[in-house]
Amino acid sequence: MSRRRKARSVPFAALTHVGMVRALNEDSLLALPPLYAVADGLGGHQSGEVASQLAISALRDNAPRHPDATALARAVQAANQAVIKGIEKGKGRPGMGTTMTAAMIAGGSATVAQVGDSRAYLLRNRSLSQITEDHSVVGAMMRSGHLSAAEARSHPQRSVITRALGSDPALNVDTFEISVLRGDRLLICTDGLTSMVDDAQIEQILVSSLDPNHAAEKLVQAALDAGGSDNVSVIIVDVTEEHAANAALSTTKQKKPRSKLWLWALLWATLVAAALAGVFFVTLNYVENRAYLSVGTSGHVYINQGMPGSILDFTLTFASYPTKVEFDLLAPEYQATLRLNPGYQSREDALADLEVMVSRSPLYRDNLPTLFDEADMPDWGRGFRRQNIQPENQLGTIPESNTPADESAESDTP
Ligand code: MN
Repeated sequence: MSRRRKARSVPFAALTHVGMVRALNEDSLLALPPLYAVADGLGGHQSGEVASQLAISALRDNAPRHPDATALARAVQAANQAVIKGIEKGKGRPGMGTTMTAAMIAGGSATVAQVGDSRAYLLRNRSLSQITEDHSVVGAMMRSGHLSAAEARSHPQRSVITRALGSDPALNVDTFEISVLRGDRLLICTDGLTSMVDDAQIEQILVSSLDPNHAAEKLVQAALDAGGSDNVSVIIVDVTEEHAANAALSTTKQKKPRSKLWLWALLWATLVAAALAGVFFVTLNYVENRAYLSVGTSGHVYINQGMPGSILDFTLTFASYPTKVEFDLLAPEYQATLRLNPGYQSREDALADLEVMVSRSPLYRDNLPTLFDEADMPDWGRGFRRQNIQPENQLGTIPESNTPADESAESDTP
């Protein structure tokens, strides 16, 4: 499980060794992507170990989720406070302290915080450069041009540092940010490596060992081979597509519009669905309130709820009711009108028109019938009413003869 996760995420290696001389390892390290840090404890008699551990756990607890120089500096300040408080509470010994080199690598950049003489290096295009500045006496002497790197490594005051966590509550933390590229390799290490192995050899090992674990082992072994007079800790982080600057740009460019596209698609789908539903219900309401007249197979005139015809196989007729009006007894012009299935805004309009037709038809004039029994046609309700929608009332099914057949009279009733 952890193997798969490691393979999918950031290739990194973290290794620490007590060395060949010291009895205790006072270095502590943290490799919790995207956060990586080493701390070199000072103080002796186990207190250096306490200091570096207090600092590392406080860093872990206070680190920002995403790389941010100010927030990372605050986390290192919190680590400083943790060591100071630790001394106050009687943990370790007075005078204990620790260095700290911390880096957050994500989104195409490495944010680095630095206190003391542990170091961060960047290997790019097979070339190694130290990206942190040592807060040490020899570091200051080197910067002012009074000491070479080789002289610094053997200088009697080489381990005297000018800044550490655990003494000054107003500690000054160096922070900076560099952009990283795919193929870059970051090395974070304690002076147990750099006091034993020169930069050229470190570079050679980092260039020749592709696997970060192999590279870390070789670096530690080189320090041990050179005497291993101090605890040695190394963290190697390989910059992959995931956190390289160019990759970060392209992934954010890809991701953002993609998620927005989904949002737009959803919004549009919702709007279209709402519009369609609106049109559907308005149409339904309109169709439901309409009425039309037709002639049934029985030869009676029918009054129908809805409209003649259908849309996509959905009939627009919600209900059909027979009237007592016989088609054959109507005047020919009204018969012609009824063959066209005349439509009306409402049932009342349809019945009023039918009443006029009846009253003006000579065969009915003397004997006006009731148009229909109320029981045969209840109030038209709302919603889909799909009784009596058989096409029996359609004009096309009218028998050839003008006199309705007896059998077909049975299909008269709804
Ligand atoms: Mn050390």
